[in-house]
Amino acid sequence: MSRLYAIGEMLIDFMPLETGCSLQEVTSFKRAPGGAPANVAAAAAKYGSTAYLLTQLGQDAFGDYLLQELERAGVLTEHIRRTDEAGTALAFVSLKENGERDFSFYRNPSADLLLHEDDIDPDWFAPGDILHFGSVDLVDSPMKLAHRKAIRAAKTAGALISFDPNVRLPLWKDGDSCRRAILEFLPTAHLVKISDEELEFITGISDTETAILSLFRGDVQAVVYTRGADGAELYTRRAHYIDSGFSVKALDTTGAGDAFVGGLLHSLLELHVDPQKLSALLDEHHVHLLRFANASGALTTTGAGAISALPDRSSVESLIATASSIV
Ligand code: ADP
Repeated sequence: MSRLYAIGEMLIDFMPLETGCSLQEVTSFKRAPGGAPANVAAAAAKYGSTAYLLTQLGQDAFGDYLLQELERAGVLTEHIRRTDEAGTALAFVSLKENGERDFSFYRNPSADLLLHEDDIDPDWFAPGDILHFGSVDLVDSPMKLAHRKAIRAAKTAGALISFDPNVRLPLWKDGDSCRRAILEFLPTAHLVKISDEELEFITGISDTETAILSLFRGDVQAVVYTRGADGAELYTRRAHYIDSGFSVKALDTTGAGDAFVGGLLHSLLELHVDPQKLSALLDEHHVHLLRFANASGALTTTGAGAISALPDRSSVESLIATASSIV
């Protein structure tokens, strides 16, 4: 069975117990596991994939907690390193009445950013595997070099490379350095997931279709463009497919994009994806791939949090079945 490897950050989000006030005013927080690569691995694992997270946690109680949460979600943790050179990454969040968020990050550096390229073993990767990464851990650090090595090794082995830029501006010195890092790594991916809010920031182009087509550089064979409640679109170099998503009662959209990606990558693993034949596979299976990913994203919005809100496979399948019987 092929495997998913997700590389990057895992952290604890401390969410405010009082909303409508600034971070300075919040007096109590509730912890939740966070980090997009961890969420993606957890989603794929929940649907039955063999999924590893490649990261480093601090040798501290927060790291113990995250490891336990990953194991509960079925993610394989044997390649996760621990260090006492830095603590597990933390983020404290406040929510104002207008929905605006304030963040305070503890990662100067955090343990994940110190993962070293020597910690990546090229022998992990095999044909049919998928390596997924985001942009949060592409800041200048040993972890950035670890990403480069993992991408090179996975590609040499014949694995598919998947990239979700997942723009998180408060983690960067400025917007320019974030954009530069994303554009540096983009051509190394075969599959890119991008959301409507990120597209113009990354490309500088306001027309959606022109912006999406501009992402086809280097090895990029497919771009998935997610549109929140409106579902998602899939572009290959030759074709364009649309799935209008599912209508659900959304409660908290945290982690919806990651659940979408986890669902998509799980389905690609089941189809024995070969990066050289990605476009043909997408042409043949786009309906199932987009339905499953959209249902995964939609159901995740119906619960609070990211990993804790992930649906199981049977709920995804019954949402798809119910929706098609209505049509
Ligand atoms: P991100 O979370 O990365 O910003 P989106 O907001 O586009 O990405 O959401 C990703 C996917 O999650 C969407 O393509 C859709 O399948 C699902 N989704 C998100 N919000 C909703 C919603 N309100 N109702 C139904 N599905 C949603």
